[in-house]
Amino acid sequence: MALNHQSNIATDLLEQAFQAIRAYQRDLPNKRAYPTADDLRALSQLDAPLSSTPSKPADVLSDLIDLGAKTAVPTTGGRFFGFVSGGVLPIALAARLVADSWDQGSALHVMSPLAASIEQQCEKWMIELLGLPEQTVAGFVSGTSMATLCAFAAARLHLLKNSGWDADSDGLFGAPTLRVIAPENAHSCVERALRLLGFGKRNVQYIPTDFNGRIDPNTILDLDDRTLLVLQAGDVNTGGFDRFEEICVKANDAGAWVHIDGAFGLWAAASENKKALTQGIQNADSWACDAHKTLNAPYECGVVLCKHPEIYRSAMKTGASYAVITEQRNGMALVPEMSRRARAIEVWAILKSLGKAGVQELVDQLCERATLMASLLKQSGVPILNDVVFNQVLISGRSSSQTSSMLKFIQNSGVCWCGGSTWKGQDVIRISISAWETTEQHIRESAHTITTAFHQST
Ligand SMILES: *Cc1c(COP(=O)(O)O)cnc(C)c1O
Repeated sequence: MALNHQSNIATDLLEQAFQAIRAYQRDLPNKRAYPTADDLRALSQLDAPLSSTPSKPADVLSDLIDLGAKTAVPTTGGRFFGFVSGGVLPIALAARLVADSWDQGSALHVMSPLAASIEQQCEKWMIELLGLPEQTVAGFVSGTSMATLCAFAAARLHLLKNSGWDADSDGLFGAPTLRVIAPENAHSCVERALRLLGFGKRNVQYIPTDFNGRIDPNTILDLDDRTLLVLQAGDVNTGGFDRFEEICVKANDAGAWVHIDGAFGLWAAASENKKALTQGIQNADSWACDAHKTLNAPYECGVVLCKHPEIYRSAMKTGASYAVITEQRNGMALVPEMSRRARAIEVWAILKSLGKAGVQELVDQLCERATLMASLLKQSGVPILNDVVFNQVLISGRSSSQTSSMLKFIQNSGVCWCGGSTWKGQDVIRISISAWETTEQHIRESAHTITTAFHQST
């Protein structure tokens, strides 16, 4: 009965959904950058017993729409600068909505030749855009955290093999020790991936970095073919990029595995104006990046890239009695999951729609807005702590307590929203320009609010 009801009104529900999407988009420019505490009290409605009888789908959707209108965080409004959260390009949203209606599985080629072909094409385009080696393989995962885990799994297998240890058959207990070298400010997903994979805390050497989060190549000593070296294209606080060219030469000579965390910064390689930052990345062994940040795909769209297809496939390999393994691309052979939505469709739609010039424009625009923000703040005397080479601006007050009251002022303003962080032991405010929606006007209004916050806080 309840299910019959669903099919009869499917079209009406979609109409209702589209109207809600339009209304949300229309209201965005006037929305506060973050819901008020009062708005968020509406979430207490969720605390209700699960009813034993069905509810009318139209009513459920209507309730959801009302709740979201009040409480959803407007990350796509152009004035949300927290967490490198990215925006959503209309083509990506539209492609996702259409693709979700197809509900394509992307574990096996036979489940969706369409999803498999799109993944294949995205892999090719990304290799070309980012200037990576031709043989590179790409797995489409939920984000950079997962991409990092996958890349490290491949690295672990390879480095242990270098020590004459077959981790696949002999496991990890009693295996030779591997070393890891990472910047002290590596993203927390690096530490987690290492822990999940059993690298052992004491085998990880975190090395100091400069004010922009970059490793001094001369501090990387004793590389060998049992070492995993983690570098960054876009530090999560400063946006700083390591000197890949110089470091990779050393690492390649020693046979170390180089992994680059490029969650948002790897896309610098797609811009003629920014690619100098990523010079030498092609000499790494694996890369992790997100499409849901700089590329402005909806959430849950990350990519792991590895230039050793055999090792990578070997780390991910799986089988099932019903799995029809063919020569064609089977998505699940490149990621740890089986059932998974066809998330590459959004990547494909964005790349196809923007073309190389459009991706460059997107990257450049985010960087230009960040530069504008930094220069407006600097003019007003707000301390800028980083060298703004990409889309990140790191600021603070003159003291920790001033920083903290500035942050409160900004977060309560409703004009824009920034997050707090710590950098080199200091409390800071992080401004990430990562949404295509952010206009120059948004930057000017937000800079005004941040400046006011600075002058009114002590
Ligand atoms: C966001 C981010 C991550 C984690 O990526 P998720 O997509 O959130 O899993 C890792 N490294 C850096 C530099 C990031 O900005």
